[in-house]
Amino acid sequence: MVGIYLHIPFCKSKCGYCDFYSTASQALVQPTVSAMLHEMERRKNYFAQAGKNSAAPQKSTLYIGGGTPSQLPPDMLAALSHKAVATFGVAPPEEFTVELNPDDVTPAYLQRLRDMGVNRISIGVQSFFDDDLQRLRRRHSGQQAVRSVQLAQKAGFGNISVDLIYGLPHMDSTRWRHNLQTVFSLDVQHLSAYALTIEARTPFGVLRRKNKLPLPHEDEVAAQHDLLCQMSAANGLAHYEISSFARSGFFSKHNTAYWQQQPYIGIGPAAHSYNGRQRQSNVAGCAQYVKNVEEGKDFFELENLSREDCYNEYVFTGLRTAWGVSKRYLQKTFDKRLINYFFANANKHVEDKNITIDGDRISIPENRWLVADSIIVDLIWA
Ligand code: SF4
Repeated sequence: MVGIYLHIPFCKSKCGYCDFYSTASQALVQPTVSAMLHEMERRKNYFAQAGKNSAAPQKSTLYIGGGTPSQLPPDMLAALSHKAVATFGVAPPEEFTVELNPDDVTPAYLQRLRDMGVNRISIGVQSFFDDDLQRLRRRHSGQQAVRSVQLAQKAGFGNISVDLIYGLPHMDSTRWRHNLQTVFSLDVQHLSAYALTIEARTPFGVLRRKNKLPLPHEDEVAAQHDLLCQMSAANGLAHYEISSFARSGFFSKHNTAYWQQQPYIGIGPAAHSYNGRQRQSNVAGCAQYVKNVEEGKDFFELENLSREDCYNEYVFTGLRTAWGVSKRYLQKTFDKRLINYFFANANKHVEDKNITIDGDRISIPENRWLVADSIIVDLIWA
């Protein structure tokens, strides 16, 4: 399995908490899309060089994210996706996801996505309360969010993911319960739920520095996390990664491949690629990206990964999933020094029940996932 990610770095406006690279200016939409087509041409041997060339076309997933992909006309998304499949010589994607903002969703837009082979959509809802959405500087209303899911179902999409955020300013467990009840009543197949994180250089970061962001206490955030786990289980969604919940058969194939160290290519400004030996980070600025791609110059930073980097990548991503890391894989892939380091540190956490070892599988139990990063940091080779 190989993954193809197309990054659309345009948003109609910037949300108050968002630290992703995107721009609200539409001036460079056409040049950026042209440069992305050109980037694919320049990197057409990427998977062959990653050792993924075979007689039969590779199985693949395709993910168009952002930014806000639904800011682009469907013809542009179709041109990019067709080019990706043709250029990288992969089989038609088993999973083809497009991220949508609720206020962009119309029956006609959804039909165009269906026509181009999209079989999974991810809707950035975040909350169903209008006052939350206004504080977050989202453009849609709670009603639009509900309607967007219903329209997608009516258009025939049977694999819909919704994003929600908990731990928002002014949010208590009652409001969070309402958001969860609403999403489960919509009967979606997948839920991505994130604890709000405040990044210093965002408007939320500024408000926090000025003490003007009334965030819930960490005990309240923990209570919201517990509610999320309980209600997801009660509604038949498995908690398969820290922020990901899904019905059986609807785990994200694209993200699961990332977490299982499969190679992926990221196309577009600020996109990342990984081939098992190197990581590539595209320049995070549309103008510079377009200039460098079109003039044949380097448009990315290349990082050669050491064994320690690969170990860190595997441990960091694996321990954030329900299936954890594999003892056999660790022993087969890494030298004694790294394996001893892993077990010396993991065993300390076993005593505290922060880590469980079950046959080949080493994982963090769900009731510790809210603090998983503080556990994982002890296992990272520094
Ligand atoms: S729509 Fe998404 S990518 Fe764009 S600013 Fe908001 S959170 Fe960030």
